[in-house]
Amino acid sequence: MKIAVILGIIYIAGINLAGFFSMGMDKQRARRGEFRISERTLFAIACLGGSVGSMIGMQVFRHKTKHKQFVYGMPVIFLIEAAVFLYLLLHHMQTKTTRTDFGMGTVLTEVIYGADGETVADGIHQLLLELENEQLSWRSDVSFVGTLNRNLAEGIPTPANETQRKWLSDSLTLCENTDGAFDITLRPLIALWGIEEDAPSVPTEEDIAQTLTKCGYENVEISTDGMVSAPEYAAMDLGAVGKGIAADEVREFLDTQDVSGAVISIGGTVLVYGSKPAGGAWQVGIRDPHGGQDAVLGVLTLREDTVVSTSGDYERYFIQDGVRYHHILDPDTGYPAQSGLSSVTVVCQDGLLSDGLSTACFVLGYPDSLPLLEKYHAEAIFVTQESDVFVTEGLESVFTLENPAYEWRKGAYDETK
Ligand code: ADP
Ligand code: MG
Repeated sequence: MKIAVILGIIYIAGINLAGFFSMGMDKQRARRGEFRISERTLFAIACLGGSVGSMIGMQVFRHKTKHKQFVYGMPVIFLIEAAVFLYLLLHHMQTKTTRTDFGMGTVLTEVIYGADGETVADGIHQLLLELENEQLSWRSDVSFVGTLNRNLAEGIPTPANETQRKWLSDSLTLCENTDGAFDITLRPLIALWGIEEDAPSVPTEEDIAQTLTKCGYENVEISTDGMVSAPEYAAMDLGAVGKGIAADEVREFLDTQDVSGAVISIGGTVLVYGSKPAGGAWQVGIRDPHGGQDAVLGVLTLREDTVVSTSGDYERYFIQDGVRYHHILDPDTGYPAQSGLSSVTVVCQDGLLSDGLSTACFVLGYPDSLPLLEKYHAEAIFVTQESDVFVTEGLESVFTLENPAYEWRKGAYDETK
């Protein structure tokens, strides 16, 4: 579809240049007394879409046609052409496609404004399946992460291409900046809890302590020629940044498509792309962490390209002996993070960071996350287990709290409270 737009632009530019120069040529021929270009030809060029070029040519070259109809007719043709052009443009921008698919272990919801939304949605779905199976899944034998973990166990370094290196180095920097509250080497601990498997259970204290010795982002090394290595007991898990990476990849894909705007939700990560027809703002609903799947906490009104990621203790959990254990682990204790939060939503232009920061902030809690968010120029909404809501300054004017069960604690954090 993109090619049709490019061809359309080339045609309109060409026909208008033809309209412009044909006026100039005809005027020159008239001066020299040569054979003139017929009125019919000049008129046809204008009718075929070149009216603007023809009218400018008439002015620039002081071309006076003999036919009055021509002079009066031209603006009429121009108006008709402008109306058709506007109609096509608006129609093109306003065609809305909504789709729901499954991928990356979650629900994908795609809202796309563009001429051929179904094809674009197919492309996104395919892209996410490939990203999961060929790059990020620790379950897959052939994915980058799967291969990396297998090689680590055998003591073999793994080559990473430029994109994979960026994923790893951005994630490792985040690990450093959180002093390890966020850690992409937690795979052995996540496996011990079995939260992503069929029968999760609470491990023994000894097993947790023993497994924690296998974790530690400091152990990962990326050489200058892109080889990744770590001790043979280590294993990586990019689950905390996977959906954000996917949002970044989808954004790159959309840049190559004829799409004026889109909102793509990959589980708790939402990519807001481009603009809405007629310049309206996008509304992104934030889930009520204490309510059901469709319960809403509030709404973010966003205009810029951005990624909104939410990490919550409701996403994946199990209950044992009446205690609820969720899937975001604190590398300090080896147990599910207990920072007093129920969910954190992070708004950031970069998808990987938005997703990674939401997991990191969930572990760090409020207000310890604030310096980290500042460092990354990211904004956030924190929801505590006591139903208090804290919103960073940059979101105060664009967040609307809709759920009366929550209290928005506005203003600076009071440590004496
Ligand atoms: P979700 O994937 O459910 O949207 P998150 O983005 O918060 O939620 O990622 C949670 C996943 O990240 C967990 O399922 C686990 O695989 C991994 N993980 C858990 N704790 C940590 C942590 N402290 N640092 C990095 N990754 C973690
Ligand atoms: Mg995350």
